[in-house]
Amino acid sequence: MPHKYNSSLLALALLLLLAPLQPLSAAAVDIADLDHQLLRAPAGFLQTDAQLTLDDARERRFAPLTASDVNRGISGETYWIRVRLDNVRSDRPRHWLIHHETSYLDDFVVHYADAGGIFRTRALSDRLPFHSRAEDYRKLAFRHSTPAGSYTDLYLELRNQKPDSVSLNVHLWDLERFHSSVQRQNLVHGAYFGILLTLLAVTLLCAALLRDKVYVHYGVFLLLTGVLWALMNGYAYQYLWPASVFWHNEGFHIVFLLFAISALQFSRGFLKTRQRLPSVDRVILVLQLVMATGILIRFMGVYEPVLYLAYGALSVLLLLPLLGVQAYRDGLRYARWYVAAWLAYAGGLVVAVLSASTSLLPWGMQPLVYAQVGSLVEAFLLVVALGERLVGWERDRRSALRMANQDPLTGLGNRRQLSEAFNALSDTGTRSEMPAFMLMIDLDHFKEINDTYGHEAGDAVLLNVAALLVRQCRANDTCVRYGGEEFAMLFQAPSVSDAQEVAERIRREFSRIPTSTGGRRIRHTLSAGLVQVLPLTSGHDGSLQSLIAMADGALYMAKRAGRNRVMVREQAAVA
Ligand code: GH3
Ligand code: MG
Ligand code: MG
Repeated sequence: MPHKYNSSLLALALLLLLAPLQPLSAAAVDIADLDHQLLRAPAGFLQTDAQLTLDDARERRFAPLTASDVNRGISGETYWIRVRLDNVRSDRPRHWLIHHETSYLDDFVVHYADAGGIFRTRALSDRLPFHSRAEDYRKLAFRHSTPAGSYTDLYLELRNQKPDSVSLNVHLWDLERFHSSVQRQNLVHGAYFGILLTLLAVTLLCAALLRDKVYVHYGVFLLLTGVLWALMNGYAYQYLWPASVFWHNEGFHIVFLLFAISALQFSRGFLKTRQRLPSVDRVILVLQLVMATGILIRFMGVYEPVLYLAYGALSVLLLLPLLGVQAYRDGLRYARWYVAAWLAYAGGLVVAVLSASTSLLPWGMQPLVYAQVGSLVEAFLLVVALGERLVGWERDRRSALRMANQDPLTGLGNRRQLSEAFNALSDTGTRSEMPAFMLMIDLDHFKEINDTYGHEAGDAVLLNVAALLVRQCRANDTCVRYGGEEFAMLFQAPSVSDAQEVAERIRREFSRIPTSTGGRRIRHTLSAGLVQVLPLTSGHDGSLQSLIAMADGALYMAKRAGRNRVMVREQAAVA
């Protein structure tokens, strides 16, 4: 084993030789080539519930700060981070900036000393008006320069005055890189808020035009989404209410709760839970009341229960996809977009919460970005959902219109359709060369058929007439059931004799082919009156009423003449 012994000895000698070149502190981070990084081991951290002075802290043992130490859950304790920023290798001073990852950390106290110097302290707090900050940045930030060939020792104190979720992620930036990064951040967030505001404007416009409460609720929801993220990111404090320490610090849980209440309110209206799922609706209502109570007691000074209620409220929203699935199963087609929307929200939130509160996803608080992106995707999908809801309304409106124009027994059009077809024909027909005719048909002795074979057999005969008419009707003709056993046909033909031939064909066929129903064959006939509709002939005023009256007159003559025939109404002398 002499070989191994020799090499160990060599390594020991090398170590002893190199030792004087090692940084003085084991907690040194080299910043000669600094770009951007998170403070990690060799930086150390310390958790304590006592108020330590800097001298106390310097006596303590610090544990290496690794990625898995970063998320501290909901905590009101004090955390210390110790690090030496080492610029020994460089011949230029290094300008740098540190800031905490979240905008809502209460106290960020920086103790700093350049090589061999005495410590100075800068206490940063978000419990002071925004304008008092040295750095115009939405998170607490501190900048300093480490001289060339030197180092700066840092002791950072992180504390929430009231318990809240704590991250130990502290960003260290080269100052110039920080400024260009801030520009990029502002651009991205500006786009985010721009899109939200556009959606809000469109939604409010829809609310005004459609007078639909669901759009109002969605508008409120969008607004609160925007406020929630502006608050989370620190933009609200920077730009919206820089003087309000209260809203920056205490507004979170109130806005969380308002957001959840509005999401539930929108869902109730959108999924029509009151009509469709009354028991679920009652549960939602109770949840909303609990959340509203939370807001109320928050104003009365209650803190921690409201904190947990707020986080609870956000997680209740994770159940909304299930509500959407239920509504979709219940026949609400547009609920599928609602489901997709809340899955996007839930996905973003779950990723964010997992990474903020567990070591499963080691990204610190940064994944809040995923929740924010999720909320934007959600907002879009909800607009799609609202769009599909409108399309659904239009479909319903059309089918209602169709039903209003349709005879339920035969599926033919009814009187209303006849008058629409007549109006359309009057508009275009006066320009067309081809004359138009109206044929009124009445079944002969239909009452006897009913009396002899029963009402159902009578219906079968009516269906038979309808089928016959559909066969005779060409694309531009209109065949309707005018009343009980009366039918009307509005059609174009080159001449009166051609029109008469059409009528005769119908009459012949109806008398030739009996209706087979219930094993019996019912023979039947019909009578009809024919009148020319266009071009206008003298003797009528051109109204549908007068034309029908004339056709009825011809029909009456057909009945009088012995039934099973077509009579043409002779026009008064044409001028
Ligand atoms: P006419 O030859 O003079 O026209 O005699 P009619 O029996 O056909 O005339 P009337 O007006 O006396 O009777 C029409 C009958 O049509 C009376 C009514 O019960 C029947 N009817 C009306 N609508 C329906 C229906 O939807 N189904 C059935 N089965 N019968 C109907
Ligand atoms: Mg705070
Ligand atoms: Mg009849």
